[in-house]
Amino acid sequence: MGIFTPKLGIDLGTANTLVFIPGKGVVINEPSVVAVSEIDNRILAVGNDAKDMVGRTPESIIAYRPMRDGVIADYRVTEAMLRYFFSKALGKWSIFKPEVMISVPAGVTSTERRAVVEAAIKAGAKNAYVVKEPILAAIGAGIPIHEAHGHMIVDIGGGTTDVAVISLGGIVSCSSVKCAGDRIDQSIVDYIKKTFNLAIGDKTAEQIKTKVGSAVLMEDELTMTIKGRDYLSGLPRSTEISTNEIVKAVGKDLKEMINAIKKVLQDTPPELASDIIDKGIIMTGGSSQLRNLTELVYRKTGVKAVLAKDALYCVAKGTGIALNHLDNYKKSIIIKR
Ligand code: ADP
Ligand code: MG
Repeated sequence: MGIFTPKLGIDLGTANTLVFIPGKGVVINEPSVVAVSEIDNRILAVGNDAKDMVGRTPESIIAYRPMRDGVIADYRVTEAMLRYFFSKALGKWSIFKPEVMISVPAGVTSTERRAVVEAAIKAGAKNAYVVKEPILAAIGAGIPIHEAHGHMIVDIGGGTTDVAVISLGGIVSCSSVKCAGDRIDQSIVDYIKKTFNLAIGDKTAEQIKTKVGSAVLMEDELTMTIKGRDYLSGLPRSTEISTNEIVKAVGKDLKEMINAIKKVLQDTPPELASDIIDKGIIMTGGSSQLRNLTELVYRKTGVKAVLAKDALYCVAKGTGIALNHLDNYKKSIIIKR
């Protein structure tokens, strides 16, 4: 007799927002970007459309990345973003108010969390639940989070690297550094500028990273030809780039990520640390897919690291699983409305 309540799981990432529908999977994967008009502060577009505007529009448009720029507490922007994703995911079912599960970074303040829940309700949700991202990543990676065993989850996305030790459904210790995929891209841009006097864009840097990048030196290097603009002549030019140059270019960033992992390992009680050694570090998020990154983590920490299945989708999958088993996971829900 109850009216139909659609379920939406939302991974509000620094780079991308994913919407997951239980039984269907990931139905939306768009940039977490909101375009706002500078003159009258109007919201112009969200997601793909907003990202397309960036760099192609007159300077009077500001592109907010709510999760990265720390304006997640900006109610209006967060609400607009959620409203857009709800209606796009629901399509013709938009007449029904959804029940939503939203991931938030482990480190956001309680004000920011409340802002997310309030924004979700204003955007049309019937109920909204907020769970910390590392917990959802663990659920999505298939880890039995309720066991009295320690598990370490390392989620490396666009803006942040989040390290957490989980036991009995909660976070025992965690750390977050603002160094992840975006920083790696920037380091590649800087390296190409310094070494080849060539200007390239963020997109090209990202392609270099995924096509030939690696976390450790490789004997059989991969190579690719890149195009850019010569800093001196101002003219287009191409050059060849190979793996080990990229390893060098991103070394400093990877070190920062590894240090975050080490710090959490050092803060972990011995019992749980021994569980982590047994089970290995579980890696999730898009940037965990960087070639040989698990190998680097192993070399630097002495602890085996494994890339989770569907690393890019673990948090989204976790939201769906948690929504479908609310009772099982009620201890991990930090806010509900
Ligand atoms: P967030 O959760 O912060 O939105 P994601 O988990 O979606 O971030 O990951 C996005 C990041 O993953 C981007 O920086 C992207 O360049 C990076 N990425 C995606 N695939 C790969 C790959 N194969 N190798 C290295 N980095 C990758
Ligand atoms: Mg993420």
